[in-house]
Amino acid sequence: MEQTSALIDGKEIATERSFTSFDPSTGEPLAEVARGGKAEIDRAVAAARSAFENGWGRTAPAERGRILRRVADLIRRDREDLALLESRDTGKPLKQARADVDVAARYFEFYGGTIDAFYGQTIPVSDEILAYTLHEPFGVTGHIIPWNYPIQISSRTVAPSLAVGNCCVLKPAEEAPLTALRLGALCLEAGLPPGVLNVVPGLGEEAGAALSGHAGIDHLSFTGSLEVGRLVQKATAEHVIPVALELGGKSPNIVFADADLATAVPIIVNSIIQNAGQTCSAGSRLLVQDRAHDELVAAVRERFEAITIGPGPQDPDLGPLISEAQRDRVQGFVERAAKSAELTLGGTAPTGDGLDRGFFFSPTLFDRVDPDASIAQEEVFGPVLAVTRFSHVDEAIRLANATDYGLVTAVWTRDVATAHRVARAARSGQVYINTYGAGGGVELPFGGFKRSGYGREKGFEALSTYSQLKTVTLKLPAS
Ligand code: NAP
Ligand code: MG
Repeated sequence: MEQTSALIDGKEIATERSFTSFDPSTGEPLAEVARGGKAEIDRAVAAARSAFENGWGRTAPAERGRILRRVADLIRRDREDLALLESRDTGKPLKQARADVDVAARYFEFYGGTIDAFYGQTIPVSDEILAYTLHEPFGVTGHIIPWNYPIQISSRTVAPSLAVGNCCVLKPAEEAPLTALRLGALCLEAGLPPGVLNVVPGLGEEAGAALSGHAGIDHLSFTGSLEVGRLVQKATAEHVIPVALELGGKSPNIVFADADLATAVPIIVNSIIQNAGQTCSAGSRLLVQDRAHDELVAAVRERFEAITIGPGPQDPDLGPLISEAQRDRVQGFVERAAKSAELTLGGTAPTGDGLDRGFFFSPTLFDRVDPDASIAQEEVFGPVLAVTRFSHVDEAIRLANATDYGLVTAVWTRDVATAHRVARAARSGQVYINTYGAGGGVELPFGGFKRSGYGREKGFEALSTYSQLKTVTLKLPAS
């Protein structure tokens, strides 16, 4: 079995204790992972601080960009290895893991390619005043990430931070820490100086809490659940440092009767089946206009029935959930929904073909869902779709916005005015019209409204998230 260490100051650091990472397709142990705690986080923060002070933040942007683009090349070189490791650690289908690795490489390429064009501004005040802005790094940034898209989210959060000149401490999730550690090694191979990126695996309440409450970090990026997001926000408040929170979602696909259903159905199904529904931006609610209801639900059901289920590395349509605890949680939601919705398909763990060893859950479809029920309000994080009907656009908008979350809204219609009306009214950070997800969207700013969090990752916007703006003003002598 693979043994891993923490990666601090360019070196592999053994820890006193370890924890086991499991393969959720089989329930078998996959790797014994270093269990970093306060001591390792202290060491990693100190290493990041001295790497920052030794000059990473002052390196020419073009030079930082070259190193980041080399990381992209190395990720692509190791694509198959990384994808297989990600698939085994998370259970996700191999084609999904390959897509995640490709997106990870794109983050390094994108930020490596744009950082030397991240200009400040000159501000026209008056003839006697010269004013300009500088984008400066914070210093040491902390990054706490979830288990659902480890290599993708590690890259999404770390690449722009490194690009602007910060030095990072990354705490991957307990359930899937392996590709983040590989990424750290690839960054060193690409020429990133030691200490610029440190990776400390460990438990949330140990390494995660030590990092989020650390007096030595200048910014924290947290991607994960609402509950832990709250804890992390309180911890960072103690030292008055900014935090970017990328939390959960309960995102709707809104389908009007005039929509092109043949195009919509596979995309709607994929939006909830991808990664077994364990996606922050999963399309977990389906709001459908009365006249299209029967045809749409029948078509979704037909596709759900054809979904293949199996171990991630065998590349099925649907892999397992991340853990037994997660499966129990999903099962609990399904049982509670019995009174407030009509179970049309699924609702249990599939059996046979070796599936009983892993943490599988069948594609599950609820119709006639009461919009106030927990299945329509809370993030299930499983392949569970909740269908609710509407009759008019105003009702669709009201239902779409009627959860605490606000991550994604998708609208399906041929009517341009309806599409834009919904887009304007949606209380979410992203709106998709006649599509979902936009192909990874490395270039597209991404983040939440309401309790889905705040701060923006991805796109040019992330360079602003990870830098602080300084305004310099010079009074010119009177001529
Ligand atoms: P989670 O339980 O909140 O954990 C996220 C990270 O926080 C993990 O690394 C976890 O470590 C750590 N953590 C746990 N307790 C902590 C504490 N007291 N202090 C500091 N850190 C702590 O979330 P998850 O179950 O891994 O991921 C699923 C959630 O992430 C969903 O809600 C999903 O919507 C959200 N998510 C959001 C986005 C987005 O971009 N908006 C993207 C992906 C996922 P351990 O693993 O050791 O517990
Ligand atoms: Mg695992």
